[in-house]
Amino acid sequence: MPAITNHMPTAELQRLDAAHHMHPFTHGNGLSAKGARVITRADGVWLNDSEGARILDAMAGLWCVNIGYGRHELAEAAERQMRELPYYNTFFQTTHVPAIALAARLAELAPGDLNHVFYAGSGSEANDTNIRIVRQYWAEKGKPSKRKIISRKNAYHGSTMGGASLGGMAGMHAQGGLPIPDIHYIDQPNWWAEGGEMTPEAFGLERARQLEAMINELGEENVAAFIAEPVQGAGGVIVAPDSYWPEVQRICDKYEILFIADEVICGFGRTGRWFGSETLGLRPDIMTIAKGLSSGYQPIGGSLLSDEVAAVISGHEFNHGYTYSGHPVACAVALENLRILDEEKIVERVAEDTGPYLREKWEALADHPLVGEAKIVGMMASLALTPDKSARAAFASSAGTVGFVCRDRCFANNLIMRHVGDRMIISPPLVISRDEIDILIERAWKSLDQCLQDLH
Ligand code: PLP
Repeated sequence: MPAITNHMPTAELQRLDAAHHMHPFTHGNGLSAKGARVITRADGVWLNDSEGARILDAMAGLWCVNIGYGRHELAEAAERQMRELPYYNTFFQTTHVPAIALAARLAELAPGDLNHVFYAGSGSEANDTNIRIVRQYWAEKGKPSKRKIISRKNAYHGSTMGGASLGGMAGMHAQGGLPIPDIHYIDQPNWWAEGGEMTPEAFGLERARQLEAMINELGEENVAAFIAEPVQGAGGVIVAPDSYWPEVQRICDKYEILFIADEVICGFGRTGRWFGSETLGLRPDIMTIAKGLSSGYQPIGGSLLSDEVAAVISGHEFNHGYTYSGHPVACAVALENLRILDEEKIVERVAEDTGPYLREKWEALADHPLVGEAKIVGMMASLALTPDKSARAAFASSAGTVGFVCRDRCFANNLIMRHVGDRMIISPPLVISRDEIDILIERAWKSLDQCLQDLH
């Protein structure tokens, strides 16, 4: 077989890909009919494909490339670490400098007393860890019946058995016998789609109080934790009404349950603060982190634990861990990524400069005839597509058809914008410039116009 490189004809790469590579969240028929787009290199917010196109990546990969592509400092950090200590584990009372340094840095950055990290290789793994941690926590405290975890419909918490069970995605539960027992779901705070005649404020309170009702229904003595993303990402960048989070926090404070904030997307500057919990005023006991922690340059995730949770878990041997928990190369790269985010004031730029600039342009997209609500927090944003704005109507065609058309139009216009049903979503690298925001918006308008024409 000839060497498979970027120089091979695209059709041949696509043929081999379709023949041998099973893709996540992808229908195999699509791959064999059209072939996958082959990405060959990237810099800043731009991707190159095998046909020479330059594509604006308004999704930062999968919401993760916060510092942008092509930062040589991270490659050099990986190389240095690989030469010095490419691997050692952190099991059985051993450790190494990158794991220590990253843990100490995370303790500095994280709000409150989230001073302890349990490393994982991904967000899914970290959420699996969280299931075990919260149950073990209550068992250690003499309350083993507190096992149930409350989550939200349409939440995304990963793809492992535990992560996908914590998530509230019906399409995922339908495959592979999910969810695992003892996970319960309340409704999401999606006012646009589900708010009916209620004001956003009243609706936010109603959805938050479902948490209280669920705790009472299950019995406080049986509930271990509540898990939620500060802003639902994969569910369609659902931003809760202002009344929602204060009420959720009140309920978490009132009842004896742990609050897990899944910051896999919201962490590391995405919302304009280091963590979404700070933007939204949450005080979690546990935080899930991944993605922006290394800007996706290395696979790494973790659970940040409060002093109290860590003390209880450390009271006995915790029979849990991954070969790659605290992988030295991943930790070294994450540290370098955090240095760049900090020294280049990237989070501040999102809060004070490019974030407000994007907000102004993004909210103006609500003037487009196809767009109902335009929501944005920091550098994550969504558009609800609708045939009738005033009625907040959904399309008669099956959900996602119009979103899919719009997504394809964006793709053809060299803009990566994703769709979740009939919501269009973005989450660009945090380093996107004002000029690049202008290009993003121009391509989004054009794609929406074309999509509207396609509907007629
Ligand atoms: N939690 C949230 C909020 C996510 O968005 C994701 C991934 O998109 C995960 C968990 C799972 O992370 P990973 O894909 O690294 O396993």
